[in-house]
Amino acid sequence: MCVFCKIVAGEIPAYKVYEDEKVLAFLDIKPVHPGHILVIPKQHVATLEAVSPETLQALILIVKKLGGALKEKMNYEGYNVCLNNDPVANQEIPHLHFHIIPRVSGDGLKGWPQQEYAAGEAEEILNKLKR
Ligand code: ZN
Repeated sequence: MCVFCKIVAGEIPAYKVYEDEKVLAFLDIKPVHPGHILVIPKQHVATLEAVSPETLQALILIVKKLGGALKEKMNYEGYNVCLNNDPVANQEIPHLHFHIIPRVSGDGLKGWPQQEYAAGEAEEILNKLKR
């Protein structure tokens, strides 16, 4: 059983922020900023491709609700919603989870590095993806 399934089962304690039939949200124990929340499906799925449309809808609605709560109740100016999908994308726990990371201006968190497309490369990618 993965560590998040153990939290769902009550075998590992967590600071639960929200819970319903399908969704559990709890504080990340090593927050970027206080109030950093993880939102997970109660049913174990590893990646976004594996989650059902119904559960995904439930998850993202709770992400929206709790993101709003960080702004309204904790006075954060904004937040990032982040889903690390697969180990290559820094997914550390193999159980789907959205991070809601509250942000403070000047906190030094940067986005990802960016590059330019080579000539024709973007069109080639569209041919692969846009079907
Ligand atoms: Zn799990």
